[in-house]
Amino acid sequence: MPFNLRGDDVCQPTPPTPLPNPYWVAFSPSVARLIDVELGVDGLPKDPAWLDVLAGNQLNAGEHTFLNPISTVYSGHQFGSWAGQLGDGRAILLGDINHLELQLKGAGRTHYSRMGDGRAVLRSSIREFLCSEAMHALGIPTSRALAIVGSKQGVRRETMETAAVCSRVAPSFIRVGHFEHFASLQNIVRLQELADLLIAEFYPECRAKKDPYLNLFKEISARNAKLVAQWQSVGFCHGVMNSDNISALGLTIDYGPFGFLDHFEIDHICNHSDHGGRYAYHRQPQIMHWNMACLASAMLPLLELDHSAEDSQNLLRSTLEEFPVIYVTEWQQIFRSKLGLQSKGDGDTGLIEHLLQAMNDSRVDFTNFFRSLSDVKKNSKPTEIFLRNEFVDRENIDQWFADYINRLQSETSSDEARKGLMDQVNPKYILRNHLAQVAIEKAQQDDFTEVERLHQILMNPFDEQEAFEHYSKPPPVDMHRIAVSCSS
Ligand code: AMP
Ligand code: MG
Repeated sequence: MPFNLRGDDVCQPTPPTPLPNPYWVAFSPSVARLIDVELGVDGLPKDPAWLDVLAGNQLNAGEHTFLNPISTVYSGHQFGSWAGQLGDGRAILLGDINHLELQLKGAGRTHYSRMGDGRAVLRSSIREFLCSEAMHALGIPTSRALAIVGSKQGVRRETMETAAVCSRVAPSFIRVGHFEHFASLQNIVRLQELADLLIAEFYPECRAKKDPYLNLFKEISARNAKLVAQWQSVGFCHGVMNSDNISALGLTIDYGPFGFLDHFEIDHICNHSDHGGRYAYHRQPQIMHWNMACLASAMLPLLELDHSAEDSQNLLRSTLEEFPVIYVTEWQQIFRSKLGLQSKGDGDTGLIEHLLQAMNDSRVDFTNFFRSLSDVKKNSKPTEIFLRNEFVDRENIDQWFADYINRLQSETSSDEARKGLMDQVNPKYILRNHLAQVAIEKAQQDDFTEVERLHQILMNPFDEQEAFEHYSKPPPVDMHRIAVSCSS
């Protein structure tokens, strides 16, 4: 949708900085179709001007002209501390097509770049592109990625790397940090405009309710509670859940040092710079709740338009308390379906937790365990299930399988029907770090075929793809611990 707030306290006109001699690194035809980019037989835009548009070199292609590229201001809490003003330091909003915003990430300095160069490197652009599309294919709300355009232009990080621009598409990139920004300035007019914009376009049901702003908060919080339950269910670790990276639409945004779990390790930290483990896998739900508390306090002045200060606080506080309930309900539902259970049983939470503890103790591959679980039959014998070999404590896992089979027997569905459903929720292919790393290293040698292949595989994560069986395997031992830092 159009980000229709204007004024230099909200955004700044920001023409992209040209990128010399750009070339395609990756392209997503399915995203192109969403924004009416006409494609040729090679799957790339028919109009070659798109390459220059997505590189930041020109502002029109075909009937699309982007007259007002902007960058927006936001603030936020980083690693739990107030960081003050941030803003789109390297993201430029070109404009919108079909109610979707098109952003260029890495297209040069903006008014909010602070000490940064406004650029993104090829490595991080490939990771963002692949993960956005992989998450979408997993059915998890996310910003999408249209393309990566590369260039030989050098960019200094820990070493010299080359620049790339990743073009991103989402209905809106409004974040918790946008609310926090105007709240920190006590700018209630802007806060209200922001909330009204979200309600008008994305939360129309809130308008009809008695307390539109309280309901807006409730809905944003509910969406993010469900989102984080989905993350947990595929072993996705975001890595930098700062409030400026949390979407007001409940989308996964701002892919940085993210990671998918290979073996299950409940306190896994994917971000090398996260020394305290604030954003470890098992803390994500709690951290999302914390971010929703930031949003609640930023929205407080909106409730005070209609209520006393005390009532406003109480209303927001009790709505915030719904977060863990929504999260747990969603988490139970998703994990039940990962186990192939259709009915609700009293002991289900215990069953799931027992399994996760055993997986953690034996460092069992998260994705492959669930994928293979659909081969267990109602009449299987625990000691004959080959998955037990993944566990060190056999007695314990035999007991778990016995309880699981017992539970399966209480369901009416057949083994085949259950397998069919389970294979639609337990992916075979995820963006494992080592796979991304191989694609990146080839791309750094100007070979983009591996990026393309991974993209194709990850677009169908639930399908058996025999030719690509090896892409479902855990990392080789020497690639187990690939550290990913914030420097992107
Ligand atoms: P992130 O944690 O990547 O979402 O970034 C935090 C803040 O730093 C945001 O305001 C970004 O726009 C900004 N930022 C990150 N990298 C750069 C860069 N290379 N140049 C300018 N700003 C950046
Ligand atoms: Mg960010």
